[in-house]
Parts: sequence; structure tokens; C-alpha cells
Amino acid sequence: MTTHESRFFVPGPTWVRPEILRELSRPMIGHRSAEFRDLFSKVVTDLRELFRTKQRTYVVTSSGTGLLEGALLNVVPRRVLVTTCGAFGERWARIGEQLGVEVDHLDHPWGQPVDPERLATHFTGRRRHYDAVTITHNETSTGVLNDLEALTNVVRAESEDTLILVDAVSSLGSAPIEFDKWGVDICIASTQKGLALPPGLTVLAVSERAMQAAAKKSYRGTYFDFLEFEKAASGGGPAFTPSIPHFFALGKQLEFILREEGLENRWTRHVTMRNLVLERTSKYAELIPVVSHASPSVSALRPKNLTPAELLAGMRALGFTLGSGYGQWKDEAFRIGHMGDITVDSLSAMLDALGEVAG
Ligand code: PLP
Repeated sequence: MTTHESRFFVPGPTWVRPEILRELSRPMIGHRSAEFRDLFSKVVTDLRELFRTKQRTYVVTSSGTGLLEGALLNVVPRRVLVTTCGAFGERWARIGEQLGVEVDHLDHPWGQPVDPERLATHFTGRRRHYDAVTITHNETSTGVLNDLEALTNVVRAESEDTLILVDAVSSLGSAPIEFDKWGVDICIASTQKGLALPPGLTVLAVSERAMQAAAKKSYRGTYFDFLEFEKAASGGGPAFTPSIPHFFALGKQLEFILREEGLENRWTRHVTMRNLVLERTSKYAELIPVVSHASPSVSALRPKNLTPAELLAGMRALGFTLGSGYGQWKDEAFRIGHMGDITVDSLSAMLDALGEVAG
């Protein structure tokens, strides 16, 4: 196996390149030092390019769920509309309910995308004001990529002052996101998926409107207070002691994504990997979600000739790790993570083995 071959196809955490792993073992520096301030400034600027925004970007030492909670805590004083089509959409609802805000659901069956027309009808039918709408861009539990542009267009048309909160945990770096052009207000991604770092860090973009909404809210918690993020960032650093090794790795990885591979090439590579999975598995497995919205970063499949548990064990015996089904699909599906820095060649080698096990 060369250093660029992965045998690890879980839909997050994903395979990490050896160059990135090496960054994690660099000697420590102080997070208030000039050296760290330089790194911080470079990372925050590169993140603007990644999110396609001229507005604010932040890095927080937390997994993504922390920032889902943080987003609701900062900008939703009263009521949120949660769109769901799988387990991670439902997570927003659970967090909102636990925070004590009013949560309305716009639920879709697992495997289907969130329907822009149903979203528009919900607004006109309900006539209730929402502080925010949540959208899970790529639903990792089912392998569905929602049409974020269409959904943001609906929210903008139906309710101008409703903020748009996007979970891009398994899409940032893997699928197009145009934060400014599409009018997103908060976009959140943890680093263990499309960015191909180890878990432990979350990146986010926050609009001017979202900052204004946060400033009006009397309680925003402490660790995820956006105003504290901004105060600290204007002094050149993070609000609290960050995972410095992750910062080294993120700096290196952003350089790679933006200036070596190129962001648009990276999106194209993900589509190529998705298409390869669909084409190569169709004889012995059925893609469960609708094909029109099949995710470029994760595929949820139902094997035809053996159970998912047998398939996963067979692949383990050959040295490959794939993902199990998630939530209500746990026993019927397996998932292939084809995200981050996984190459088409290593995916193809894994599919050769999968054909032997499941074919
Ligand atoms: N949202 C989506 C779409 C995810 O796939 C995940 C994790 O798999 C999460 C949220 C939760 O992120 P984290 O595990 O970083 O808290």
C-alpha cells in the first residue's frame, strides 16, 4: 500500500493523509504568540475562500454538534423551523427542544430530499414567523444531498428576515456551497469529513445579519458565544485555548485544497467517486435514497445477496473498513464514505474487493 491509498471508507471520520498527520505532531506554540496569530489569520482568510464568503469565519475546538447548539443559542430567541430527511436534521430539532425554543418540523421520509415546494407551502400555510430555518445540506445518515440553493431561495422569497442555518458537516469541501451568493447566515462543518482532518475542530461562517441577531439576544451561553468569537478574532486569536495541532493541520490542508487540488476540482472528484460507486455496485446492491439527490460524499446501499453485517465482516477480513447503516437503517444498509482526500484509485481498489465479497 502506498501512503496515498486508503482502506478506510467510513463516512466520517475519514481517511487522513500522512502529511496532515505529521502536522499534528509539531512542537507546541503559544496560542497568543505572534506565530499563532499569523497562522490564525491565514486560516480564517482561507476559510472565506472555502465558504465563498467575504463575511466572518471562525474555528472552534469542538465537534460539529457543539456549533449546531451554538447557532441556535446565538440567533434563535423564540422559534425555529427544522427541515428533516434523516437523523442529522432531526438532531437540530432535539437540540432546539432541549434549549426550550419552539420547534416546528418539516419532516420528509428518510431517503428523500427536502422539497423546496413543500418548504414554500409551509411558509404560506402557517403564516408564523421563524427566527431561523435549519437545513442539513448533506444528510449523512441517508446519503442525500439537499438542493441548498433552491431551499435558500425559498426562505429568502417567503420570509426575508428569517435566518438560514446550514449543517454542512459532510458537504463542505465535497460539494458546492456559496455562502454569500445563496444568502446563508450560519454554515457549520466539523473537520473530520470533507476537509479530511482528524475530528476535534469545527469551522463556520457567520453573516452580518446573524451577528446582529446574536447581539440582540441576552443569553448566548459562554463557550459558543459568537460575540466572544468576534472580540477575540479582532485581537488575532480564538476566544479559548484551541487545539493547536489541529490548527497546524488545518492550515496545511486549506493550502492543499485551495491551491494544490483546487476547490472545484475537489467537488468534481467527489462526483466522480459517487458515480463510480453507483456504477460499480449496481449489480449487487441498491442505492436506498433517490438517485437524483445521491450524495457526492457518502452512499447508503442495501446489499442484495447478504446482510450488511456479513458484508462489513467480509470487507474487514480483506482489510477494508466501511460504514454501517445509521439509525433506522442500521440493519438494512451499509454506507461507503467517499469523502475528503480519498482518491478515485483507492476507491476503485476497494470496489474490486467489494465486488468479490458482495457480488
Ligand atoms: N451533521 C451531520 C450531517 C453529520 O454527518 C454529523 C456527524 O456525522 C453531525 C452533524 C455531527 O457532527 P459531529 O460528530 O462533528 O458532532
